[in-house]
Amino acid sequence: MYLIAGSGLAGSVLAERIASVLKKEVLVVERRDHIGGNVYDYKDSEGIFIHKYGPHAFHTNDESVWAYLSRFTEWYPYFHRVRAIVDGIEIPLPFNLNALYMVFPPGLASRLETKLVDTFGYNVKIPILKLKEFGDKDLQFLSGYIYEKVFLGYTLKQWGLTPENLYPSVTARVPVYISRDDRYFQDRYQGIPENGYTSLIERMLDNPLIRVELNTDFRDVKDSVKFEKLIYTGCIDEFFDFRFGELSYRSLDFSLKSYDTEFFQPVAQVNYPENHDYTRITEYKHFLDTRSERTTVAYEYPQAYERGGNDPYYPIPNDENSALYAKYSEEARKLHNVVFIGRLAEYKYYNMDQIVARALRTFEELR
Ligand code: FAD
Ligand code: UDP
Repeated sequence: MYLIAGSGLAGSVLAERIASVLKKEVLVVERRDHIGGNVYDYKDSEGIFIHKYGPHAFHTNDESVWAYLSRFTEWYPYFHRVRAIVDGIEIPLPFNLNALYMVFPPGLASRLETKLVDTFGYNVKIPILKLKEFGDKDLQFLSGYIYEKVFLGYTLKQWGLTPENLYPSVTARVPVYISRDDRYFQDRYQGIPENGYTSLIERMLDNPLIRVELNTDFRDVKDSVKFEKLIYTGCIDEFFDFRFGELSYRSLDFSLKSYDTEFFQPVAQVNYPENHDYTRITEYKHFLDTRSERTTVAYEYPQAYERGGNDPYYPIPNDENSALYAKYSEEARKLHNVVFIGRLAEYKYYNMDQIVARALRTFEELR
């Protein structure tokens, strides 16, 4: 029997593969009172799917991941569009050529556009910290503006750190985009599970060989359940009883509000880099174009993670944390019947498709 700690995407993909292909029994223990991990969603009284743990837009260039997930869901075609309020103006994110013309007078915008295209080419993405390295006066002005207005305040709120104190890959997730494409992602495959993410996970776990125990902490069963292999998707420092110290995570508080109006904002996600304590507001009905008279939004407040007090949502990618993670990872390598996989167990800022790809690859290594 395989024991899996955690019913998020990582645990659920592996449970599905092990049961359907290896025909082995699987016990999934989940600490929360629902399956799905952070992709869990539910319908509210207006019929709107609420992503309980923040906005989840699926996107991938990996055809095998898309094909695999498509066995368990139909997709509602959806391209994530995000706006940011900068100087009181609603601009598209990533910051692109359209944004340039919204925040600067036409003459200046046109000069900056020419400079960007001549320097980098059209349809090119440049991380803000890279753009800041260019010495040209116009580019210095532009990168300084975008850094101050879009990245600095948001990153301080989101992480409690400046962009320089995180790996550059964090802010590179939202590069400056020399393009007129207003979509947040350009991946080939994008969409939202037609009946929600929870239903997708339910279908993965719907196998007589899979048993799911909710409200069950791995720590409470690890000595009583006999397993041939353990797949662990929780926090790696917790698994080893914090023997080298606690890893840092970032947490969030979601404040849900319903309004007596059809729409609150034009797109699913609006970011607030400059003002307010929240980083972004998500209006959920946009994901599946749900028709309803009222609407529900979530205000997202980043906060420090406190063990036992709130949930660990993000690993914090920098040198100090990587060094501590490396110690745990070294211990993990010594345990031959345990697989550590997932955003928490590998302490990596994975997107959903990366987790599915990891889990599918891990399964191939297991068999
Ligand atoms: P999780 O979903 O965290 O699952 C781990 C599970 O293990 C949890 O259910 C937890 O309760 C359980 N668990 C932990 N410890 C124990 C224990 N001791 N015993 C029993 N159970 C335990 N990705 C995208 O691709 N697009 C997006 O738009 C996107 N938006 C995001 C927005 C937010 C706010 C966040 C936080 C993440 C977002 N992601 C997005 C990333 C996505 O959520 C993750 O890649 C994915 O959910 C990770 O799956 P996982 O199985 O590794 O971890
Ligand atoms: N970011 C920012 N301003 C924004 C959007 C993103 O500074 O308006 C930075 C910030 O550091 C953030 C990171 O880019 O944490 C990655 O953003 P993404 O939208 O990928 O974050 P996620 O959806 O994973 O929370």
